[in-house]
Amino acid sequence: MSTEFDVAVIGGGIAGASAAAELSRTHSVVLLEQENELAFHTTSRSAAIYIENEGGRVFHRVSTASRPFFEAEHPELDAPLLDPLPVLKVGDDSLAEEFRQEAADAGEVTSSIRIIEGSELLKLCPVLRPEVVTIGMLEPTAASIDVMALHQLFIRRATANGSDIRRAARVVAMGRQGSHWSVSTEAGDVTATTVVNAAGAWGDVVATMAGAQPIGLTPMRRTAFTAPIAQDPAAWPFIYSAIEDTHCYFKPEAGQQLLCSLSDETPSDPCDACAEEIDVAQAIDHINTISTLDLRSVKTTWAGLRTFAPDRNPVFGWDDTVDGFLWMVGQG
Ligand SMILES: Cc1cc2nc3c(=O)[nH]c(=O)nc-3n(C[C@H](O)[C@H](O)[C@H](O)COP(=O)(O)OP(=O)(O)OC[C@H]3O[C@@H](n4cnc5c(N)ncnc54)[C@H](O)[C@@H]3O)c2cc1C
Repeated sequence: MSTEFDVAVIGGGIAGASAAAELSRTHSVVLLEQENELAFHTTSRSAAIYIENEGGRVFHRVSTASRPFFEAEHPELDAPLLDPLPVLKVGDDSLAEEFRQEAADAGEVTSSIRIIEGSELLKLCPVLRPEVVTIGMLEPTAASIDVMALHQLFIRRATANGSDIRRAARVVAMGRQGSHWSVSTEAGDVTATTVVNAAGAWGDVVATMAGAQPIGLTPMRRTAFTAPIAQDPAAWPFIYSAIEDTHCYFKPEAGQQLLCSLSDETPSDPCDACAEEIDVAQAIDHINTISTLDLRSVKTTWAGLRTFAPDRNPVFGWDDTVDGFLWMVGQG
């Protein structure tokens, strides 16, 4: 087993997998994941929506620039990565002005965004309560994305390019010696010219190990769950409520069920996040307030950590002071 590489990628989530796939085209790469399986943390816990008008300008541009790759045919895959699923952000009268302004601004991101009102709201999603939801902003080009297929695609490409993918290889220490990093892991030591910090919620922990200044990342727990419903939601959009005191979202899934969340953001230490019952209960209450769904039970619950830099932009690029240390965190 080789111990000398050009690049050591720390983290086997979607960020680390994509970095390994791309960098391994021209460099020797080792990917180091602390868990026994890849994508164990945030990556496998997502609601899997691809939306361009989300986050700040940097996220808008990155999301928009990614579309051609997501829509391309990839010979390694049996099915497309994207499955069209419009996103309808819903509001009440108090949000009407804000929505109109946002829709006008969003024209720069994706021109198809439009305001929906009155009976058209019910045509799109017949379970919305018209006395509560009075306006919507539709992003028709959004999609459900097969996150695990995308992750697998990156890992396959990295492997095909000769990358060494190591599980149960938590990085516990590292130091710069001349032009190389010495990286100690629970599965042995490696050297690399460059370290890529793709450690998600642990991004600042890894930076500190490398002697870099932490960014001030905050992992935020979000609970999600699936719930059975009586209707077939196949033709509905993804619904996201921005109405005060009813924040929540629900996503139609096969088998007469919805993927739901309060869209909560609760600061947390980096950890294996667990669902909070109170967040599930509140989400059910909010969904039942904006819709006639009358949710009463859940099938499965989970939680994950969405990690943000203080300015909520992704953190990508070389560290200012530590040589050979590349940041790739804060993906939300
Ligand atoms: C409930 C929920 C819903 C979401 N919905 C969406 C959505 O609809 N659309 C969307 O785009 N995004 C969504 N997200 C966000 C998205 O999932 C994340 O932005 C993305 O998965 C982050 O990937 P990552 O690779 O940065 O982090 P992770 O997947 O957490 O990967 C980081 C990896 O680093 C490893 N690691 C950490 N420290 C070490 C170490 N010392 N040594 C070795 N390995 C280490 C960890 O074990 C982990 O596997 C959602 C997230 C949640 C929780």
